[in-house]
Amino acid sequence: MDLDPSPAAEALRAKARAWLAEHVPAAPLPSLETAEGFAAHRAWEARLAADRWSVVSWPERYGGRGADLEQWLVFEEEYWAAGAPGRVSQNGISLLAPTLFEHGTQEQRARTLPPMARGEVVWAQAWSEPEAGSDLASLTSRAVRTDGGWLLRGQKAWSSRAAFADRAFGIFRSDPVTRRPHHGLTYLMFDLRAPGVTVRPVARLDGRPAFAELFLDDVFVPDEDVIGEPGQGWRIAMSTTGDERGLTLRSPGRFLASADRLVRLWRATADPGDTALRDRVADAAIGARAYQLFTWAGAARLAEGSAAGAESSLNKVFWSEYDIALHETALELLGADGESADTEWAEGYVFALAGTVYAGTNEIQRDIIAERLLGLPKGRL
Ligand SMILES: Cc1cc2nc3c(=O)[nH]c(=O)nc-3n(C[C@H](O)[C@H](O)[C@H](O)COP(=O)(O)OP(=O)(O)OC[C@H]3O[C@@H](n4cnc5c(N)ncnc54)[C@H](O)[C@@H]3O)c2cc1C
Repeated sequence: MDLDPSPAAEALRAKARAWLAEHVPAAPLPSLETAEGFAAHRAWEARLAADRWSVVSWPERYGGRGADLEQWLVFEEEYWAAGAPGRVSQNGISLLAPTLFEHGTQEQRARTLPPMARGEVVWAQAWSEPEAGSDLASLTSRAVRTDGGWLLRGQKAWSSRAAFADRAFGIFRSDPVTRRPHHGLTYLMFDLRAPGVTVRPVARLDGRPAFAELFLDDVFVPDEDVIGEPGQGWRIAMSTTGDERGLTLRSPGRFLASADRLVRLWRATADPGDTALRDRVADAAIGARAYQLFTWAGAARLAEGSAAGAESSLNKVFWSEYDIALHETALELLGADGESADTEWAEGYVFALAGTVYAGTNEIQRDIIAERLLGLPKGRL
């Protein structure tokens, strides 16, 4: 297996590095979990899109550069190394777009993807419900047939960025009589400002309100916004979860950049005699490199035609636990005032804590690894 980037990937790296050096804002943007920060991040998405850097792996006709997986990984390394802003369009780009490429119609792609690439339409994921998180198939929100479309009824929970987003994609029970919970579900897109939608922000641990729950009271969705066949929502949603847990949500570039930042923090602030803390900084550097190599190997297998499948769960458990350890080490280096001295590390820590829960909890990922990759028996004590 050849893990050296190809000449085409290195050419993209050089172009991206030059562009980012010129355009990345000198000061960090305000947090995208606030209205002001959300607007600033949308403007950044538009800037990226204007020079075709917002969706490098998409075909050119939708605003991309047709980059392959290897080129995308290289771009991500440059993006995060340049200190560029977090991506407010991530739900759309890394979850809905792959679903549309696989299951959407030509018309849905043409209508939905370009405004997503430009940050004009920001998407929220509306899957979870108060009683349906890990056991997603127990969801009860309904899509009821009506003339020319569907009426959505029910409640969705924990929808990231929904307080400021424009549209959402989710799964709904369209056949309430089927006895099998994975059957009779339909995957569709809807407008968060449509009549009948109430968006109630939920403050996070840091008080910021971009998270929201959604109340849906006969919200009309036209047939053209159903993805795939009605009743096939589970199959379509499961193809999205591989993307969420696997390569696209947390690329190694991000952790390589964070590990570098941690090493710089160690050099600037550490007591050289504190070898225990020094070892943890070294562990962070090793972890970022290991994740990079593991991801490159996964990308090479995908390029050879294998499916991501349950392997995605390995990535998910690794990056979520790694992220917490990395941030804890940074906060220890910063000392007692760390949380006020460097808000970037402090905010990153609070968010890292959620990483073992969102995109499927790590308990569930370990079950998947045990059962599907290792062939161990089902169930737990
Ligand atoms: C920061 C954050 C962002 C999120 N963003 C979104 C979003 O944008 N859109 C969206 O739809 N959802 C989102 N979620 C929701 C997330 O997907 C769910 O919280 C998650 O799937 C867990 O579901 P739950 O909260 O209902 O917990 P539960 O399913 O009630 O789980 C509670 C605990 O029990 C464990 N558990 C449950 N069942 C089993 C089992 N069978 N075996 C072993 N252990 C089990 C879980 O691992 C967990 O530790 C987000 C959550 C967070 C924290």
